[in-house]
Amino acid sequence: MKAAIFYGAGDIRIEERPVPRIGPGELLVKIMAAGICGSDLHAYRHSPKLLEGRMFGHEYSGEVVEVAKGVEGFSVGDRVGLEPLVGCGRCGYCASGSYHLCPSLWHVPGFAEYQKFPKSKAYKLPDHVSFEEASTLDCIAVAVHAAKLSGLRGGETAVVLGAGTIGLLTMQVLKAFGAKAVYETGTHDFQVELARELGADAAINAKKEDLVERIKILTGVEGAGGRETLRGVDHAFETVGGAKSALEEALRIVRRGGTVTVIGDPKNPVMLSSFVMREVKVLGSSSYAYYGKEPEFKVALDLLSSGKVNARRIVTHAFPLERIKEAFDVASDKGTGCVKVVVKP
Ligand SMILES: [Zn+2]
Ligand SMILES: [Zn+2]
Repeated sequence: MKAAIFYGAGDIRIEERPVPRIGPGELLVKIMAAGICGSDLHAYRHSPKLLEGRMFGHEYSGEVVEVAKGVEGFSVGDRVGLEPLVGCGRCGYCASGSYHLCPSLWHVPGFAEYQKFPKSKAYKLPDHVSFEEASTLDCIAVAVHAAKLSGLRGGETAVVLGAGTIGLLTMQVLKAFGAKAVYETGTHDFQVELARELGADAAINAKKEDLVERIKILTGVEGAGGRETLRGVDHAFETVGGAKSALEEALRIVRRGGTVTVIGDPKNPVMLSSFVMREVKVLGSSSYAYYGKEPEFKVALDLLSSGKVNARRIVTHAFPLERIKEAFDVASDKGTGCVKVVVKP
């Protein structure tokens, strides 16, 4: 089979690899769509040694082509969404259901024609959910996990910083979970327009507008006697990461006692004084696992198939696997108008 192998910054090659052989409890899946994640882009630019010479990619969907003997509930031809996260199954985190914190957490790689999965990681897709849409389930599950972690209750307000895939999906998940108003920031006009189209109550171009002023208008002011400050939102979600100032902005626009949930991977330092005195809670959110007893991946699929989350407008570009390098170059440049770029093996 053809598989994309990572060799270093800007260097991805299509090579022949043997089709994986399934063991007990596994399914062999023909990958139909595989999305390029922000973390894949980070690898593409910075070339982590860990990845060199390996397959990668972890946001995919496909069609079952072989079922191990004794596996029930799946047949050849089933269309499936696939959760990439596999914990060790033995550590305390895995035992308690928080396998996303497993020190040996592994992402099954999927920029390839075929891959095998434990049957517990495959979810049958309804006919009306396309492979492209289903390739974003991993990202929707990330948003579900962050929304749960934040403790958001119905009727609360939120700002989502960033209007890439995770930002646009987080905004929609928060609305589905009953947020009264969700505002979103982006740095490109097309992102801001898309945020509005997908249901953001206000969409703000953070490059052109003064975010703090806009939030002051949206949430009002509190205090008196010349000490008026903006009231702020109940929750902020940082999805930008890198050396941007989004985390700092999040801390400024959240109310006293509010919550900032960090999904991105910010690299810049933050002053404790910007949130200690106002008792803002800062939470890290990474991947996903269970929502109560239900897998968050399943919650994501329910939101997608019920139409509460729209992923059709999120997948903006598709390339055949052979042109994966071009797909990465498009995904690296927001000037192309891309949100999610997928390859189709
Ligand atoms: Zn990802
Ligand atoms: Zn573990």
